[in-house]
Amino acid sequence: MQGLREMLWARNLNAGAKPGRIATPRERSAMADQATAAFLGLAIGDALGATVEFMTPREIRQEFGVHCEIVGGGWLRLKPGQVTDDTTMSLALGEAILAEGRVDARAAAEAFDAWMRAKPVDIGNTVRRNLITYRKTGNPEAPASEHDAGNGAAMRILPVALATLGQGREVLATACRAQGHVTHHNILSDAACIALAGMVQDFVRGKSVEDVERANAAPLVAVHPVFDYTVKPRDNPSGFVVETIQAVLQALFATETFEDCVVDVVNRGGDADTTGAIAGMLAGARYGLDAIPVRWLRRLDRGVAESCRLQAEALLTLSAKGPAPERIRGD
Ligand code: MN
Ligand code: MN
Repeated sequence: MQGLREMLWARNLNAGAKPGRIATPRERSAMADQATAAFLGLAIGDALGATVEFMTPREIRQEFGVHCEIVGGGWLRLKPGQVTDDTTMSLALGEAILAEGRVDARAAAEAFDAWMRAKPVDIGNTVRRNLITYRKTGNPEAPASEHDAGNGAAMRILPVALATLGQGREVLATACRAQGHVTHHNILSDAACIALAGMVQDFVRGKSVEDVERANAAPLVAVHPVFDYTVKPRDNPSGFVVETIQAVLQALFATETFEDCVVDVVNRGGDADTTGAIAGMLAGARYGLDAIPVRWLRRLDRGVAESCRLQAEALLTLSAKGPAPERIRGD
């Protein structure tokens, strides 16, 4: 890890800096810390939430009181610290981005296809259907569908956010659509992916929570009012990306620690591994590594934790090489 970090500094990386200004080592080190916390937060939220996936808040209260320990189980009968598709698809995507040196739809489709062949513990219906279509057609862009508004593309957006850090909103949006459309070619999914990735980037660049909300969540709701998360509490969020985002943003903006945010969202039940993963990603980016409870870090599957750390650093390094928009395919 130390070697990678020194490499990051030595290359005078400028992701996150204003144009014409190189990020200082202190800024680089803060960004690497928050990017790593985002990836570990994603995996921790997934591992914690999976225990109560598809339960209602009332059922969770009856069984756990407040669910706040990584104990495995759930309908997938996981080992404590084991993660699900939210984390493993993110890692598969991150690996493809690093291998290609850019966000590439075909490389992402191949990576997801290989991931599906390896028999993951869980897989979304839309992901499965459109990967099977990809096998037949070879087209890494799924057909557009107003029904494919699940959270399956949003839950794996993190490596795209890190790989395009500091490269501008246009590059970010293009890359989000390229990876998202492999399985979810849908306007609400796109909007959610772009907002989430923008939030991660802004947190990693040190923006305040108020600024992050104003620059990402507010425009999302302005363009697609269905996402409005301020009206009523979203309990039991389904896999519909709108409900997922509402639960996550409510938990993120109503709490002031990593732990409170993730505990809040998974105790809402429903698609709790995915809301946990997305909330953990945002809270990790917001609060940094020191804010993640050590008892959760210790429980997380060791191989997964190591992959999260390595990918976070390597994706930041890649982002500093600058955009390659002409080489982003599939948009
Ligand atoms: Mn899952
Ligand atoms: Mn899920």
